[in-house]
Amino acid sequence: MHIQYACRVSRRLALVCAALLTVAVSACAHDLTAASPQRPRVLAASRTASVLDLDDPQIARLDSALRDALEAAATAASAEGVPLVVRSGWRSATTQERLLKAAVVRYGSLSEAERWVLPPDQSAHVRGGAVDIGPAGAAAWLEQAGNRWGLCRRYDNEYWHFELLTEPGQPCPPREPHAQVH
Ligand SMILES: [Zn+2]
Repeated sequence: MHIQYACRVSRRLALVCAALLTVAVSACAHDLTAASPQRPRVLAASRTASVLDLDDPQIARLDSALRDALEAAATAASAEGVPLVVRSGWRSATTQERLLKAAVVRYGSLSEAERWVLPPDQSAHVRGGAVDIGPAGAAAWLEQAGNRWGLCRRYDNEYWHFELLTEPGQPCPPREPHAQVH
């Protein structure tokens, strides 16, 4: 009798334990589920500061080959402690036109302005084929290492402006003195 009773009690206890365990486990599972979306959010937040903020149309609308090269370069730069930032990537024709007008005011003539800002129909930025990199140290890093991914500085007067100008691992073409209307 005693044993049977004890068994019944322990069976009841076991059931209670199992029930408690289920509650505990589901509570845990709930916590995990609630916590997990925070991870991507953190990553997304840190990504905004990097070159790979795909929510930014300046990055999202880049030519995909350029974006892939940039991603690889940024990853390598970051591993060497060099944070690489895209100051300007894809631009709409409207933005490019506005920048050109501002450059005319700044440089005093259209011909001088066009050494820095090309018209929309000639700008590699508008085609999604160019990025301006900052800060200066990161641009210098990319100037040295960028050809590993085909990335080259194009102009003497713009240390920040990079395009895909060679095959990965091949030397970059000679630099041009400045942008030019063709
Ligand atoms: Zn540029």
